[in-house]
Amino acid sequence: MPRINDHFLKLAAGYLFPEIGRRVREFVASHPDADVIKMGIGDVTEPLPEACRVAMMKAIDDQAKHETFHGYGPEQGYAWLREAIVEHDYRARGCEVSADEVFVSDASKCDCANILDILGPNKIAVTDPVYPVYVDTNVMAGNTGPALNGGGYEGIVYLPLTEKNSFTATPPSEKVDVIYLCFPNNPTGATATKDQLQAWVNYANANDALIMFDAAYEAFITDDDLPRSIYEIPGARKCAIEFRSFSKNAGFTGTRCAFTVVPKDVMGTSATGEKVSLHKLWHRRQSTKFNSVSYIVQRGAEAVYTEAGRTQTRGLVSFYLENARIIRTALADAGYTVFGGEHAPYIWMKTPDGQGSWDYFDRLLNDANIVGTPGAGFGAAGEGYFRLSAFNSRANVERAMERIGSKLAV
Ligand code: PLP
Repeated sequence: MPRINDHFLKLAAGYLFPEIGRRVREFVASHPDADVIKMGIGDVTEPLPEACRVAMMKAIDDQAKHETFHGYGPEQGYAWLREAIVEHDYRARGCEVSADEVFVSDASKCDCANILDILGPNKIAVTDPVYPVYVDTNVMAGNTGPALNGGGYEGIVYLPLTEKNSFTATPPSEKVDVIYLCFPNNPTGATATKDQLQAWVNYANANDALIMFDAAYEAFITDDDLPRSIYEIPGARKCAIEFRSFSKNAGFTGTRCAFTVVPKDVMGTSATGEKVSLHKLWHRRQSTKFNSVSYIVQRGAEAVYTEAGRTQTRGLVSFYLENARIIRTALADAGYTVFGGEHAPYIWMKTPDGQGSWDYFDRLLNDANIVGTPGAGFGAAGEGYFRLSAFNSRANVERAMERIGSKLAV
């Protein structure tokens, strides 16, 4: 029999969303007539922007003719998409990123996980609560000890996101090698200011640490003074990798396209102390293990940057932000303490009367037939909080808020 990767056996209780799915299935089986509104998982509901659909249909036609047919593309993505990304997402905001530092992929989730291929054993810091992928992938890679009784894993440095620090963590006093940051934040919906990110970049450069900056929700930032990219911060090119996705701005969760920026200035060290470019390693990794994204989908992603595409994606983001505003207002009117939802599609609310977040999950499902995400599922410091997603139809959001107002007001 083959040996397995024993680190998988350390994974506690399974992934959060399968557990939510299990509870919802049980509830629906015993209440078949219940009209359940799902506000848990952060999946988009609105159709793809027209500009993207048209570009993909044209790309399908390209595949029908010898002269325009595309077989295997470059593993790092087509130059025209990488150029469009650099021009609109980086140069337009004064960031120094070159097209060959952009690696197109099919998912930020996969990139966040796969990047560990090019790193050795490292001391990891994550925020608590946290997007679970950062933690579980490090468990799988053997960067942690066993699961701890009180939640979390031995060997990981947890940086609590609290009301007191406005849900933006501050750098630890100890030295870590890799720090995962996500702003606008999933799950709390908090954003970080330039000064806050500068403190992280300064810490990383002073401690030879690497920042994994997840900007999956940057399109939801409406205040121009807030940074959308870590590369808006001086010094970040030396210490940060950035993950971005078309999933949430352009509704690509089922279409699949994302990208990762690995600047040529970011270095790691080998076992012998030699400095090695992470860009070179990631290039090598992707060339060997990845064939990039289909020509058709990359054409769809390119269309996000056309004038029509930009207008349409802005429309999508505004739609979800209006949902978020409705949720925030309704919850506050119902007596809840709410955070986030201003520059993010997530609303982070305090559970009433200090109720446990899984208890509140069950109560919300049973009394109002609404599915949300328990804060404790994102980490121990998420206990006592609850996340609602603004990715939904307007009608569902309004119905859900009416139910909370009438059945679960505090
Ligand atoms: N990063 C964060 C913080 C997310 O919340 C998500 C999806 O919910 C992702 C990355 C995944 O993006 P993708 O669809 O590109 O895998």
